[in-house]
Amino acid sequence: MAEKAWSFGRAFRNVFGGGSEPITEDTWDDIETALISADFGPEITDAVLEVVRSEVDRHRVTDVVDLKRILRETVETRLDAFDPTLRLSERPAVILVVGVNGVGKTTTIGKLANYLTRFDKKIIVGAADTFRAAAVEQLATWADRAGVEIVKPQQQGQDPASVAFQTVQRAIDEQFDIAIIDTAGRLQTKGGLMDELGKIRRVIEKLAPVSEVLLVLDATTGQNGLAQAQAFIEHAGVTGLVLTKLDGSAKGGFVLAVQESTELPIKLVGQGEGIGDLTGFTPHVFAAQLIG
Ligand code: GDP
Repeated sequence: MAEKAWSFGRAFRNVFGGGSEPITEDTWDDIETALISADFGPEITDAVLEVVRSEVDRHRVTDVVDLKRILRETVETRLDAFDPTLRLSERPAVILVVGVNGVGKTTTIGKLANYLTRFDKKIIVGAADTFRAAAVEQLATWADRAGVEIVKPQQQGQDPASVAFQTVQRAIDEQFDIAIIDTAGRLQTKGGLMDELGKIRRVIEKLAPVSEVLLVLDATTGQNGLAQAQAFIEHAGVTGLVLTKLDGSAKGGFVLAVQESTELPIKLVGQGEGIGDLTGFTPHVFAAQLIG
């Protein structure tokens, strides 16, 4: 993961920034405040603190530097409980990308397509958000940047499922490795949108299995964004999460909270608007960036 000036590391820098020091009751209060302000949520904060306290007692730890290591390891262990591997062994591997408008779906598809071409994968993307001409054009721009093929609707409002079908059909006929399909995120018509996603899926599955359904979440919206995304989790067969905008978020703890409350693995993280700003999710690196 690229080194970034993570704004969410700040909460813990205030606690541990001073180097070697004896642990006091204030230290525990400060850690609790940092965990809450980083959006771990009250339950995870309590659970993490309990583990850390018992480890500190067991090893008779007296210095904040050692306490910090224990905190980092505790967070890493919890983050590590989910498998972040993208399942791409089918050929073609079909990835459906879902989520509320504005969370970064299209951008993520552009970045992901670009990332996967580095592994010599032949990629095609499908613009199945057919009601917004701007969305189709935006995806076309990203496809161009990433140097991948695109299937666009022939006219605005074309049945999204037919675009998805054509994309996967072309992927099979022309031996693409991966087909990534953009979908609509109009939350106003939740029922309609879930039906539409269901239809897209059924139509694709006439041709090939769906390898991944990635739900994109905007990390800056924290728990709110998660509430909005609940319908996708309940109805869209989500297999993994993409957290975007971590570069602009002070809520790094949301990463752990979101995995535990959805019981879905984070598979990718977006950390900027550039084509290179997407990486896999590595608990070890993330815990180090978060806690320091
Ligand atoms: P969509 O409606 O879900 O397809 O969202 P878009 O892909 O159009 O993205 C919405 C906005 O979020 C755009 O301005 C993107 O540049 C921005 N964006 C997407 N991902 C990231 C990210 O990881 N970091 C930052 N800072 N901005 C992002």
